Amino acid sequence: RPRVGVLALQGDVREHLAALGDAGADAVPVRRADELATVDALVIPGGESTTMDKLARAFGLWEPLRARLAAGMPAFGSCAGMIMLAARVVDAAPGQETLGVLDITVRRNAFGRQVDSFEADIPLTGLDGGPLRAVFIRAPWVEETGPDVEVLGRVPSGRHAGRIVAVRQGAVLATAFHPELTADRRLHAFFVAMVAAQARV
Ligand code: GLN
Repeated sequence: RPRVGVLALQGDVREHLAALGDAGADAVPVRRADELATVDALVIPGGESTTMDKLARAFGLWEPLRARLAAGMPAFGSCAGMIMLAARVVDAAPGQETLGVLDITVRRNAFGRQVDSFEADIPLTGLDGGPLRAVFIRAPWVEETGPDVEVLGRVPSGRHAGRIVAVRQGAVLATAFHPELTADRRLHAFFVAMVAAQARV
């Protein structure tokens, strides 16, 4: 079983640990650089990207994270995690930094405020069995993608139809929504398969 860490500084860490376990990974929380060194891949959870960024720097995790990602460690970010992985952020908080491994521009809080949180069924490239029920909570969307970024999913209908909400660039996966908050484990299984494939290369 691949050993997959969940960045455990802030956010919905437990939900990702449970989902990864269900999806066939050995899931462990990562708070320190020595813990990061033991994992094959990392999930960055939903939460608050500005807080996670500050804590990662305070815990001495920022440079080790950048180094592992630069070396090709597979990563999956949901919501705030997507923001953390992005190269460019619109409406970033003052002083907010990101890890910058995904060649995308994200807009923070793009769908509106907490009261504008919503659910939608998103068809996802590479995922069999129909659309995935997706929960959006003060979610970002992707405004621009670089040439190496594959768009995996868009909002299918309604006011926000066409907005990009799931992307992949090589071993890095990101969603604007929270697959860890629903019972459907297909996206976590997809990521665990990505990690296993990378390990075989
Ligand atoms: N709005 C949050 C941020 O900017 C993300 C919200 C979430 O992860 N549910 O980081």
